[in-house]
Amino acid sequence: MQESGSPGDAALATTCAVCGGKARVSFRQLEIPHFGRLMHSLLLCEDCGYRHADIISLEQREPAKYTLRVETPEDLNARVVRSSRGRVELPELGVTIEPAAEAQGFITNVEGVLHRVKEVLESCVRWAEDEQKRRRAEELAERVRRVVEGEERVTIVISDPTGCSAIISEKAVKEVLDAAEG
Ligand SMILES: [Zn+2]
Repeated sequence: MQESGSPGDAALATTCAVCGGKARVSFRQLEIPHFGRLMHSLLLCEDCGYRHADIISLEQREPAKYTLRVETPEDLNARVVRSSRGRVELPELGVTIEPAAEAQGFITNVEGVLHRVKEVLESCVRWAEDEQKRRRAEELAERVRRVVEGEERVTIVISDPTGCSAIISEKAVKEVLDAAEG
């Protein structure tokens, strides 16, 4: 992929990382209140249908970690920016979603992140090697569902070595991470 020299909406032709076919990347510039300017990139392959979305910062950012105690419907509504490098943790549940190579960047809210965590846990239920792991994943998916329903409270932690992930809420605690920790 080429560097896009000037910010703004643009699209360019590229090669699909999966099948080597013809793909197209489009860039859309976004201004997120209380966070700053971002670029949303979306690669779509015409040949195999592969799709990859990501978030790129247009500003210099420090590696950062955001922590939010999810207690109210407003907390569930807090906006979340998550780049493909962002790691999501729910410490009370012992759940960590590490950024994988295939991770997608997205802008959503806390509830949207919890839905994605639930999807990951549900796929763990399907692919579990043994009964114990399957039951554990099922239990955790159920607890995440309870958090979304406001029946259980958790802390959500999002950290990103590129600083491109954030929980945008006055209540969220931001810490700057050591570059080495990333
Ligand atoms: Zn392809």
